Amino acid sequence: MWLIATAVKCPLRRRFDYQVPEALVATLSPGMRIRVPFGRRETIAVTLDAPRRVDDGGTARAYRPLGEVLDDAPLLDTELLASLKWAADYYHHPIGEVVAAALPTALRQGEARNAAEQPWLHITAAGRAVIDTIARRAPAQARLLARLAEGAMPRSEAPREQAKALLERGYCEQALPAPLATPPPPEPGAPVALTAEQTAALAGLPWAGFGVTVLQGVTGSGKTELYLRRIADDIAAGGQALLLVPEIGLTPQLLERARERLGGAVIGYHSAMTDSARLDAWRRVDAGEPLLVVGTRSAVWLPFRRLMRVCVDEEHDVSFKQQDGFRYSARDVAVVRARAFDAPVVLGSATPSLESLHNASTGRYQLVRLDVRAREAPGARLHVVDARGQRLRGGLTPDLSRALQRHVADGGQALLFVNRRGYAPALLCHDCGWGASCRACDARMTWHKRRGRLLCHHCGAQQAVPESCPACGSATLRAAGHGTERVEEHLRTLLPEARIARADSDAMQRAGAWDTLRDEVLSGAVQVLVGTQMLAKGHDFPGITLVGIVSVDQALFSADLRATERMAQLVTQVAGRAGRGARAGEVLLQTHVPDHPLLRELLDDGYEAFAASLRAERAAAALPPARPLALLRAESAAERAADAFLEAAAGVLRARGAEALGPVPAPMMRRAGRYRAQLWLQADSRAALQQALAQACVEIEALPAARRVRWGVDVDPADTL
Ligand code: ADP
Ligand code: ZN
Ligand code: ZN
Repeated sequence: MWLIATAVKCPLRRRFDYQVPEALVATLSPGMRIRVPFGRRETIAVTLDAPRRVDDGGTARAYRPLGEVLDDAPLLDTELLASLKWAADYYHHPIGEVVAAALPTALRQGEARNAAEQPWLHITAAGRAVIDTIARRAPAQARLLARLAEGAMPRSEAPREQAKALLERGYCEQALPAPLATPPPPEPGAPVALTAEQTAALAGLPWAGFGVTVLQGVTGSGKTELYLRRIADDIAAGGQALLLVPEIGLTPQLLERARERLGGAVIGYHSAMTDSARLDAWRRVDAGEPLLVVGTRSAVWLPFRRLMRVCVDEEHDVSFKQQDGFRYSARDVAVVRARAFDAPVVLGSATPSLESLHNASTGRYQLVRLDVRAREAPGARLHVVDARGQRLRGGLTPDLSRALQRHVADGGQALLFVNRRGYAPALLCHDCGWGASCRACDARMTWHKRRGRLLCHHCGAQQAVPESCPACGSATLRAAGHGTERVEEHLRTLLPEARIARADSDAMQRAGAWDTLRDEVLSGAVQVLVGTQMLAKGHDFPGITLVGIVSVDQALFSADLRATERMAQLVTQVAGRAGRGARAGEVLLQTHVPDHPLLRELLDDGYEAFAASLRAERAAAALPPARPLALLRAESAAERAADAFLEAAAGVLRARGAEALGPVPAPMMRRAGRYRAQLWLQADSRAALQQALAQACVEIEALPAARRVRWGVDVDPADTL
């Protein structure tokens, strides 16, 4: 009997074996899609190995036979399949879900690999002859014929019954479409002349051969310019390149810029694209076309054939790590794939992650710096505004308010960073202290005044705003704290003449909203921009002369292991928005803890010094990046179930040689109606941690307590919340 191991999308950490009919043994190889029975339904699985012969021993009936084979060559080649298996092992996630993450929806549902393999319908001479006469008897068929008279169409897009009828009558025929027009050759734009420093940095980026370079340079220093130079050469040599970015909606100008430089050889890949656009992009990469993919996280799974370079922009950005389900880091997977292609990697950032700085200090990565801004911008002075004892209006100190008025009066532009969207992070009763809380989470509801609703930012729950206090009946309900809406409202009274715009995910929901706003800021139509961390991401607004940071104090006292490094990255990035043009800038950071040692170090000595001491602190505490960390996360509907499961799992893990701390309740113990807790897992080496987890996961899955919880492993967690 022949069996084949497959990946089926389901939450079990195992492969599923199917019986292979003798006649199919020779046609099957790893990485092909097959239809298989699964439970009571049918699904599409992906083969993980070649068929293997096993001794029958009367067990034949235990294995169900596979159904149709959908590919005649592997859809996932050896490299991609190996990278997927690596990721399933490294992140201890079910292989079926890992493989599914790598495929556009259409391919997961059985769509043909090549557009050309999909039959198209072409009208025949007989069909043209009857277009008019058929209309009376069969109007639907006539409509399809009229459509075909204008040009061929994919059979899958035609109404099924009518297509069948027309084919049977010979009014149309099925054939492959004319081959896709090859894209126009790139028409490289004239590159700018590099500065001496950029030239030196470019020389530090290898032409070829695997190696990781951390390119540390402030925003505007020309990192993108350097990526595009190297990539232009890769493409001219017939290769492919990947440029990973945190959020494409915020960087459409990057696509434009790449197209100016590389002509038609640039495609985007991100979650805002339609399924069919994603499929088209996948096919072009699969066909080995020389091109650059500019994409977000999932682009790291595209079926590259001749990958010659990977660049990760803003490599410290937390959005490269998937935060639920298959918790992979696209940045780290990109390095693994580049190694398989023997291709160089560039990790660019003004504020490199602690991991990358750690790898640079141990010599695994090399560090290349770009210290000067390309266009000789004067930069910005940074001042701390002590908010203690000050009378705040709209969350702003008098100093910050005056600075805003001054800059706007002088014809400058200002940017205000606020860490919460909505009007106020809490709604409280002035008489009895009652506060609006989410029913499903241990969290306050955020008041969105404009929408007139209370929203939970953790589970999405909504409530009407009560007119009076549900506890004591008082009509005096007050907003506590400041979100972007409330700051914006205050600014309208502070600066009645100025045009004020808000940039947060509420205001930027409409497609194209960010583009419009960006143009308005660039043209000078908007004088004050209020927003969330959306504003920290690599935008170049030369007119900004003042940056105000309304508060970062929360981060200094957060329970999240990584809160302080994120705060430092954010402050450095937001502050970098000022003074990008001809005029000097000013950055005001408002805080109630002006003497906090971490804040002092960041402000006095800069991000690098701050990162170095944070790394020393982590090394002393045996925490990442000095020592690897994984979390076993669990959540349950019943209050004690997550803890009970984690206690049992801790026993298994300890027996396998891992150190397991916990269960510790998550800082927000209940979210979306589920109780959450986690185990902190460590070992002396990464290899030891990985091995312990690999062995333990199989046993943990079989624990009776596992049936009452949702659980998952989070290797190299981006947060510990
Ligand atoms: P980063 O990626 O580090 O933010 P960019 O490559 O986007 O930097 O450069 C910032 C801006 O400066 C861009 O508008 C870019 O076109 C421009 N620029 C970069 N290098 C030069 C140069 N050598 N001469 C003129 N303009 C440059
Ligand atoms: Zn009350
Ligand atoms: Zn909630």
